[in-house]
Amino acid sequence: MSKQKIVVALGGNALGNSAKEQREACQATAKPIVDLIEQGHQVVIVHGNGPQVGMINVAMDEAQKKNPKVGDMPITECVAMSQGYIGYHLQRFIRDELESRKINKNVVTVVTEVLVDSNDPAFKKPTKPIGAFCTKEEADKLAKEGHTMVEDAGRGYRRVVASPKPIDIVQKNSIIKLIDAGDVVITAGGGGIPVSFKDGKTVGEFAVIDKDFASAKLAEIIDADYLIILTAVEKVAINFGKPNEKWLSKLSIEEANQYISEGHFAPGSMLPKVEAAIKFANSKEGHKALITSLEKAKDGIEGKTGTVIVK
Ligand code: ADP
Ligand code: MG
Repeated sequence: MSKQKIVVALGGNALGNSAKEQREACQATAKPIVDLIEQGHQVVIVHGNGPQVGMINVAMDEAQKKNPKVGDMPITECVAMSQGYIGYHLQRFIRDELESRKINKNVVTVVTEVLVDSNDPAFKKPTKPIGAFCTKEEADKLAKEGHTMVEDAGRGYRRVVASPKPIDIVQKNSIIKLIDAGDVVITAGGGGIPVSFKDGKTVGEFAVIDKDFASAKLAEIIDADYLIILTAVEKVAINFGKPNEKWLSKLSIEEANQYISEGHFAPGSMLPKVEAAIKFANSKEGHKALITSLEKAKDGIEGKTGTVIVK
């Protein structure tokens, strides 16, 4: 098949819970990614960060309790840390895998800010729980400081943050130059660091951006041929988990919208993936989105498996 420009979005849940687990996961992930590079495709990587940014957030809160000098660590800073932490492991093991196959390529992680609208309606209705669980008293105190707190499934209280839609990628010109130079780029990790601009200054926004939407936006901006969302399932299903479950190989935008309105995709997991896939497929003739598992990435791009969404 001809050489394609591919944005690969990796699920944060597949990266493990400790540094050791993450090193092992990234080492395993490097192989199917380098398979795509070896076939001649241009690959750009976006990764999730849910568990990792949660861990960093909790760790920084604990550090602040022990030593108040640490101060509050905003979510934007936590996302930035997670991009470095995950990007380091991905670039290191992708580079080693390339080296073992004698493929000469630079691999680089870009600390990426993503523009959001500070008037995005999502800010009025925060939905994403982050960080540690706390007691009612601690929750009340945080609420007074302006945080939105929710009771999370009987396990205690948690902060929730908004999940606004990505509008633009601040470092896009540099990213495009790196891709054009043939480098393997890791960018918009965790959906990117949410920022807006006010009076000529950059403002960090108290939010997290969905990595599925950020990868669709990136794919659109760099005019990729393919958006591949790699997750825990080989295909998208309707009636998921029910006796009449049906795995789908191909979805038109109309069918996908129909299934969304019938509630087939779980919010927070499969729904943003299907929505992101629709957005990219709709953005230009020829743009294709594929949802499949990491192990099946190579077969998926050869049209052998996965769920393809096209206009
Ligand atoms: P990631 O970390 O890759 O973003 P998520 O856990 O957020 O992964 O989303 C993928 C999960 O969505 C799958 O593992 C599956 O359990 C779930 N899921 C929900 N609805 C569906 C559906 N209709 N078809 C397939 N998987 C679904
Ligand atoms: Mg997810």
